[in-house]
Amino acid sequence: MSDCIFCKIIRKEIPARIVYEDEDILAFDDIRPQAPVHTLIIPKTHLSSLKEAELDQAGLLGKILIRAREIAGLKGIDSSGYRVVVNTGPDSGQEVYHIHFHLLGGRRLGWPPG
Ligand code: 5GP
Ligand code: ZN
Repeated sequence: MSDCIFCKIIRKEIPARIVYEDEDILAFDDIRPQAPVHTLIIPKTHLSSLKEAELDQAGLLGKILIRAREIAGLKGIDSSGYRVVVNTGPDSGQEVYHIHFHLLGGRRLGWPPG
């Protein structure tokens, strides 16, 4: 997707603080962090949201969850705990329509979310 902001980050057309990268996924720090650790993890293939995900993408999406756990370790919040969030659609507040997993931690997170 040529005009997708996260695809531009994948292509390195827009700078980002990259935390982790492999052939399938990219993780980078959120530009407007909502917690001391706020990293976004995305697939390198464009997928608008969880709503469009197909079963044959289950491996890729599951891999992101496992990498989220490892990135939590890299960020030093694996013991204190963290939250992984996938906003989906208007009521969730999803702003960027390239699926992304928010990894949040480093402070006590409120529940229920606002
Ligand atoms: P959403 O509300 O769609 O779940 O989350 C989108 C997230 O992307 C927001 O937390 C926002 O701060 C972040 N974001 C939007 N544009 C950029 C950008 O250009 N660079 C980075 N690093 N994060 C971005
Ligand atoms: Zn994209």
